[in-house]
Amino acid sequence: MKTKVLIILSIIFILTGCEQKEVVSIIENDKSMVSINYPVTDSNVLNDAISSYVNKVYNEFKAEENKYEKPELNISYTYKEVNENVISVSLNTEIYTDKTVNKIKTFNYDQKNDKFLTMEDIVRDLEALDYDIKKALLEKYQEADMDFLSNVTYDYFTRDNENLSLYFNPVELYTKKNETIYLDIPLNSLRLLIDIDKETDDNTYISIKKKNIDYDKKVVALTFDDGPSKYTEKILDILKKYDACATFFVVGNKVEFYSDQLKRMLKEGSEIGNHSYSHKWLNRLTKEEFQEEINKTQKAIKKETGFTPKLFRPTYGGYSDKLKTYTDLTFVLWTVDSSDWKVKNTEKILNNILPNVQDGSIILMHDNHSYAVKASDDVIKKLKEEGYQFVTVSELLEIKNLRES
Ligand code: ZN
Repeated sequence: MKTKVLIILSIIFILTGCEQKEVVSIIENDKSMVSINYPVTDSNVLNDAISSYVNKVYNEFKAEENKYEKPELNISYTYKEVNENVISVSLNTEIYTDKTVNKIKTFNYDQKNDKFLTMEDIVRDLEALDYDIKKALLEKYQEADMDFLSNVTYDYFTRDNENLSLYFNPVELYTKKNETIYLDIPLNSLRLLIDIDKETDDNTYISIKKKNIDYDKKVVALTFDDGPSKYTEKILDILKKYDACATFFVVGNKVEFYSDQLKRMLKEGSEIGNHSYSHKWLNRLTKEEFQEEINKTQKAIKKETGFTPKLFRPTYGGYSDKLKTYTDLTFVLWTVDSSDWKVKNTEKILNNILPNVQDGSIILMHDNHSYAVKASDDVIKKLKEEGYQFVTVSELLEIKNLRES
């Protein structure tokens, strides 16, 4: 009997393989603007490699932050399960101080063999490919310096079901542009040493629940930024317990991983808003970059839930009037700031919120850390006792219109 259970367990383990467990999210807006998101898997070896890289970048950045006026650090990620054993993770770091630094780091970890893969492990004949890669690079990046090109190494790559993507740091290629240089090579043009495909889930559509709200009575909108995260589920439990709802302004690059939580938000009467794709400071972006941040997030949410957000919350609360003309989404800030991420203490969070709430308030909280969990329970309980009805931001805007007419 025991052996049977063991065999079944090992089969499950083999089938499950290495998986993404959560996304760690560090967002700070103090002396500097920091937004870091990276995946945590069930492989400690991979996790250690990723977190020690992130810590190193973070510590180096923090050591220098006092030298500059509002510097910014942004680390975003991609995560792909190549097959049940191999995971591809890329980390893209952007640093803005008195100069712009843009660098890439990739991890291709084979859990079965406990090994970080190199290009030699993946491509059968790298030397033969070398010429084609350099030719394609020169076509795509015409300002690339040919001398530098001869020294290019293939240290950074990821793989999904369609492409092998190669990344090069700008210094390596000596281009004028300070952006990460990449090349997608279709898998069918390569002779690969590693294979096996993964299929994706179907889309589902869930509509927002209709609620009975008396718009003559006090209303308040609770909003959560910077998620989803492993704490979001707990916050949804609390909302459910009090029959309340909230608006979650989600960061696009976490949407796919937390799709269950997103579906639950909609199913239980909450709303999803757009909080950009990689949480960069928007005023630094071109029109095209800004629209890409918005559109990638819209697409990801639509794909996972069927829902298309109408609201946008600017990262770090900063935007210009011009930025607003680049999208149809409605910009939404807040009237009550919990500063939950900063004060890290339930009592202080409550003190920041409760005395300042009035009819029609929009409360800012963040569902990417544990402090928001307990505090949101207390906040909802107290405000319900005071007679507040919880509504989403869209509902709040609708109520304001109704009251005015
Ligand atoms: Zn934010």
